[in-house]
Amino acid sequence: MPDISRRDFARLAGSCGAAALALPALPRFALAQASAKVVIVGGGAGGATVAHFLKIGAPELDVTLIETNPIYSSSFFSNLYLGGLRSLESLNHTYGGLARLGVKVVNDTAIDADTTKRVVKTRGGRSYHYDRLVLSPGIAVKYDSVKGYSAEVAHLMPHAYTTAAAGVRQLKRQLRAMRDGGVVVIVPPNNPYRCPPGPYERACMIAYYLKTRKPKSKLVILDPKRSFSQQAVITEAFATHYPDMIELNLSDEIDDFSVTSIDPRTGEISTKAGKRVRADVANIIPQQRAADIALRAGCTEGDWCPIRPENFASRKVKHVYVLGDAAIAADMPKSAFSANSQAKVVAADILADVTKQARSAPPYHNTCWSLLAPEDSVKIDAAFALDNGRLEPVNGFVSQPGESAELRKQNYQESLAWHGAILSDMFARAGAAPAPAPEQRKGE
Ligand SMILES: Cc1cc2nc3c(=O)[nH]c(=O)nc-3n(C[C@H](O)[C@H](O)[C@H](O)COP(=O)(O)OP(=O)(O)OC[C@H]3O[C@@H](n4cnc5c(N)ncnc54)[C@H](O)[C@@H]3O)c2cc1C
Repeated sequence: MPDISRRDFARLAGSCGAAALALPALPRFALAQASAKVVIVGGGAGGATVAHFLKIGAPELDVTLIETNPIYSSSFFSNLYLGGLRSLESLNHTYGGLARLGVKVVNDTAIDADTTKRVVKTRGGRSYHYDRLVLSPGIAVKYDSVKGYSAEVAHLMPHAYTTAAAGVRQLKRQLRAMRDGGVVVIVPPNNPYRCPPGPYERACMIAYYLKTRKPKSKLVILDPKRSFSQQAVITEAFATHYPDMIELNLSDEIDDFSVTSIDPRTGEISTKAGKRVRADVANIIPQQRAADIALRAGCTEGDWCPIRPENFASRKVKHVYVLGDAAIAADMPKSAFSANSQAKVVAADILADVTKQARSAPPYHNTCWSLLAPEDSVKIDAAFALDNGRLEPVNGFVSQPGESAELRKQNYQESLAWHGAILSDMFARAGAAPAPAPEQRKGE
């Protein structure tokens, strides 16, 4: 493959969004090389993007995507559903586009990986041999990190923090059923966790829902941390959009708001600081770790997977890449944007391997937008470059308090464009972002 194509691919691959569809047609390589088998576990922000970009770069490549759910229900934009600004259906996506490109989409769960024989085994009893394995399985929650919380309690007090739509749906049902004047409690996790501003965007969106439907209600945040991502603009929004509705309890050296007990029967939640709240609706978000298959494949060290930052190859196991939330990517946040950016580097690296072409320096990027109220969106943005073998943020941007409504609206429009672009990257769908569908208010 000529160098120019490889460079173009890497450049486009590193840029954000719908660049996928604008990629130049790359020359096909010899079938012997193309018969290499790539198995990807996890069809989310990272894995689905890798599958798509591999097929763009090398249509002949044998790409298998193993994904538990036939429908991917995105966590990103799920807070907007809780706020009533988007339908649940708009979060759901299928894998037809990838299958049409020739990706072998397997609806099953990978339960083990023999990394010596290079075989992935699934719950359905099938085995898949690979030359390269890509793991982008996201997170598992550590229920026991919050005293009194468990998988059983989560049915009553959902964390709604994984891709399973059930938790978000359940949380929304509970908000709908709650009386006006009720109390909603959010318990955010300690760092590191998926989507650092996520619990606080969620607080804004739930507060927006309450303000517009149940204005006598309150929202209490019991935070084990001292500070959080985008705190200045988010607390400004608490005061301006939701005055007297949100009570934020951040821990400090005197008061620790880590949860000490939960009574799912009465809804009472107690903290180390001695604060007790009786929740009508509780959203408990525990600590997190890399999903099970990363552990089974021997890729974890502690809770997460160490990787080589130049290409997201596992530091622990040969011929395996780990990307997205499961990976330790230094300061690069656990976000869909990051996973998508990493995925393009992984795909380019595999293609370079298969085609024996030189690799390009990876460009990584992340932007997280948080919607504080309709059309009031803030963002935190950075490119990431390799510095002494570590990924370091460069050229960052963080929204500031007091910005104009115009700028915030522009951020919101950008977030919609990004949403459309990442969906195109993941699911090989042409077209721009679907318009946000206002939620049906029927029955409320
Ligand atoms: C409330 C909330 C809001 C968010 N908002 C944003 C946002 O605005 N912007 C942003 O960039 N990010 C956001 N995020 C973060 C984003 O959703 C994640 O960072 C991103 O999805 C991570 O991508 P991933 O590929 O690592 O994992 P995922 O997207 O979670 O995909 C993992 C996939 O792997 C599958 N899987 C796991 N194990 C197996 C197995 N053994 N076999 C088969 N399949 C398996 C799962 O079913 C899942 O589909 C948000 C997250 C939350 C919770």
